[in-house]
Amino acid sequence: MRASATGGTGTDGKPIDIGDGSPSVSDDPDQAVDLARAFVREVVQPGVAGWDRAARYPREDVRASGLTGLFAPADQGGLDLSYGKAAQVFEELGRGDAALAFSMSMHNAVASAVTRAGDDALRARWAAPLVEGAALGGFCLTEPQAGSDATAITTMATRNGQGEWSVSGRKAWVSLGGEADVFLVVAKTEDAPGHRDVAMLAIAADAHGVSFTEPYDKASAAFLPITDMVLHEAPGHVLAPPGQGMRAALAAIDVARFDIAAIANGLHAEALDVATRYALRRQVFGKPVLEHQGIAWSLADVATDLEAARGLTLKAADLLGSDRGSVAVAHAKRFGPDVALQAAIACSETLGAYGWLHDHPLARFIALAKMLQVVDGSAEIQRVVIARDLVRRAGS
Ligand SMILES: Cc1cc2nc3c(=O)[nH]c(=O)nc-3n(C[C@H](O)[C@H](O)[C@H](O)COP(=O)(O)OP(=O)(O)OC[C@H]3O[C@@H](n4cnc5c(N)ncnc54)[C@H](O)[C@@H]3O)c2cc1C
Repeated sequence: MRASATGGTGTDGKPIDIGDGSPSVSDDPDQAVDLARAFVREVVQPGVAGWDRAARYPREDVRASGLTGLFAPADQGGLDLSYGKAAQVFEELGRGDAALAFSMSMHNAVASAVTRAGDDALRARWAAPLVEGAALGGFCLTEPQAGSDATAITTMATRNGQGEWSVSGRKAWVSLGGEADVFLVVAKTEDAPGHRDVAMLAIAADAHGVSFTEPYDKASAAFLPITDMVLHEAPGHVLAPPGQGMRAALAAIDVARFDIAAIANGLHAEALDVATRYALRRQVFGKPVLEHQGIAWSLADVATDLEAARGLTLKAADLLGSDRGSVAVAHAKRFGPDVALQAAIACSETLGAYGWLHDHPLARFIALAKMLQVVDGSAEIQRVVIARDLVRRAGS
């Protein structure tokens, strides 16, 4: 959070301590939800239109948010948040902008992996900067020919006689490409089918052999750079050794999918709040829009879907890390963005023509909810995970 006398008040009515502008990772996990709420109200909502116009990632705002070490251990400066608390934090962030929230989810996954699984050398270089937000992290699994089917990756990591790794290949859909400082790159180590040889390596963005393409021309979120990352014998530092890379990536993706479900709930809740407030004020045919049953019932359905989505997210929070975690997350990640998209459309319709204006977030939210359906594994891939579990359970 930026240094400011107006840090907002917490759930207890006390002012939020947002420090002096230096990275303010708090010792109190409960404060993270208050920090997220204040960040959205004071920084994201007023700032996002300008960031979009300037196509500028709000790096300093993210650094100062106090939300860059959510899952990192406390002894390394992190908040070590429970998943239940993280669901609240990401729901708050989703009320602001889902693309920014997604980038913060990805950064936190990288900070968590480096602080928890990195060796001494990796932690010495990156742990503190990532947790404090002085450095940003990105994650590279997708390639031009390998999206949903991650086993189709061809990026190759090889080791020389001195035991040093170098990585060559091309990653696609690299969020924060050209902006983040370190990327976790999933790569093969042998030219063999499957994922038994897959490793995960940390690669510094400014290392030799690393370059980024121009940002993609996207339908929304112009402030979030997404590029290809081209690697030509780039030096890498192993985080997960050959054989463990895909498992490490999938574990990180489970948490990322959980974050996305919570972000979708935030978008959904904010859309409903905006539409309800508007429909109470706006008069048509002699009474508030909200008193017309067609609109009231539409918003009632939006509210029911939100309750259901939150329930799935909380169940996933309970099960994440257990052997039922991936399926619970798949249910939440499939359902949350789907109903958030329906909610954004229904809430936009409540505002009539005004739903289309940038004065309200609803048109932006429709595009963002669509993005949430795809990112970190599409709705269809969540159905594949759920259906596989059905088959396994039916057979056992
Ligand atoms: C905004 C954004 C940011 C992203 N950031 C990153 C990032 O930082 N790092 C990263 O590694 N990746 C990133 N991605 C990539 C993202 O993870 C992939 O787009 C996603 O995994 C889907 O891959 P794809 O687009 O290649 O679709 P494809 O795999 O080509 O799939 C095409 C269509 O087929 C469907 N499909 C695929 N397989 C099946 C199946 N078995 N059954 C039924 N339907 C199926 C898919 O759901 C999709 O609708 C990002 C994507 C977006 C949109």
